[in-house]
Amino acid sequence: MSDCLFCKIIAGEIPSTKVYEDDTVYAFRDIAPMAPVHVLVVPKAHVASADGINESNSASVARIFEVIPKIAAAEGLTNGYRVITNCGEDACQSVKHLHFHILGGKKLPENMA
Ligand code: AMP
Repeated sequence: MSDCLFCKIIAGEIPSTKVYEDDTVYAFRDIAPMAPVHVLVVPKAHVASADGINESNSASVARIFEVIPKIAAAEGLTNGYRVITNCGEDACQSVKHLHFHILGGKKLPENMA
């Protein structure tokens, strides 16, 4: 989508610090990290949110969940990490391109909501 921030990052039109890329997945460091490791993992094909996952695009989501442990290992997250996706207004999703936050490198708060 031409007006999507993360589509522009994937296309290289906006700079990012890439940590992983393959045919369907792109991962990069969050610009405002909330933990020592804060990586965003996104499908290259635009999906607005988790609410838009369906039979036609779920393979890229499955690929994301294959890639997440590889990124976590590469980032040294041997003691655990959190994977989050915010979906829609009540979850305060700010970028309308499906993304999974990988957070780690410290003891994270027990309370998520
Ligand atoms: P969410 O609030 O779940 O939609 O998460 C969006 C995330 O994108 C936030 O953690 C932002 O800090 C991050 N973000 C916004 N713009 C950029 C950017 N240009 N590069 C990297 N991360 C970004």
